Amino acid sequence: MQAAVNVARGRFDIREVEAPVPAPDEALVRVRACAICGSDKHEFQGERPPRVAGHEIAGTIVGFGNSETGGLGEGDAVVVLPLIGCGACPACAAGRFGECPAGQGAVGYSRPGGFAEYVAVPTRNLLPMAPGLSFAKASLAEPAAVGIHAASQTDLTGKHCLTVGAGAIGLLTAQAALCRGAAAVWVADTDATKLEPAEALGLRPLHIGRDALPSQELEVAFECVGRHDAPLATALAALRDGGTLVLVGSGHPGGLNTTDLVARRLTVIGSCGVSVAEMQEAQEWMAAGRIQVQPLLSGTFPLSRFNEAFAASLTGQKVVIEP
Ligand SMILES: [Zn+2]
Ligand SMILES: [Zn+2]
Repeated sequence: MQAAVNVARGRFDIREVEAPVPAPDEALVRVRACAICGSDKHEFQGERPPRVAGHEIAGTIVGFGNSETGGLGEGDAVVVLPLIGCGACPACAAGRFGECPAGQGAVGYSRPGGFAEYVAVPTRNLLPMAPGLSFAKASLAEPAAVGIHAASQTDLTGKHCLTVGAGAIGLLTAQAALCRGAAAVWVADTDATKLEPAEALGLRPLHIGRDALPSQELEVAFECVGRHDAPLATALAALRDGGTLVLVGSGHPGGLNTTDLVARRLTVIGSCGVSVAEMQEAQEWMAAGRIQVQPLLSGTFPLSRFNEAFAASLTGQKVVIEP
């Protein structure tokens, strides 16, 4: 099969590789859409050992490792929950594979991913694709579920929220916050073009450096950028005392000022991973139009043009590969 393999910083070879063979509890999926994630962009701008990445996947089942099909059948359209658990512990039984103490990484990281024609995935990691979604849209169920997970960390009912970062995760988290009953959600970014879809999504754009922070007291702030201190500082500056900071982004070099946290009685929550239920909910909100991914889709490319797609993803929002 054809697959995109990283060979240098930001460079990929589209080459023939061995198609994966599904293990007994796995299915073989023909990849129909695999979105490039912000983490892929970050990672492959550096040197990495060659591999087939891609973890935001929608496709059709073409075979099974054995008779354990998990109620799925050949030809079924599915989306992939990329986190790999042991399948036996309480966290896995609850569909929270990311919390599995014996977790085995993720599709596209610890095992070959979806920037290829086929991917092998444990059947418990597959969910039927919601009717009404295209494969390209359905490939964004995973990042949408990341937003739902973040918006589920604290009760948002009637609350005024801020999402810092108008990248895909920021805009998806903000929409998920509205789904979770937030009264109003501001989205802040330094890049005005990224804020363009905000109003159509029912969000309030805030151009950092130009607009003042909302005069409204904000009870919850989501930091969806990471790796830089400025977005974290914006989130903290906007939060009212006693408010809640949900960290979706990580790796802030300056860390958190605990004196400030204590003095202002702030709650800090780290949000990581997605569950089966959140993947399902993401698809339902997307199919119902409550979480819109169309404004986040910057383009679709065939696998043969992966290098172009990767370059486009660096300046755009979500770029989807259709192998
Ligand atoms: Zn991702
Ligand atoms: Zn487990």
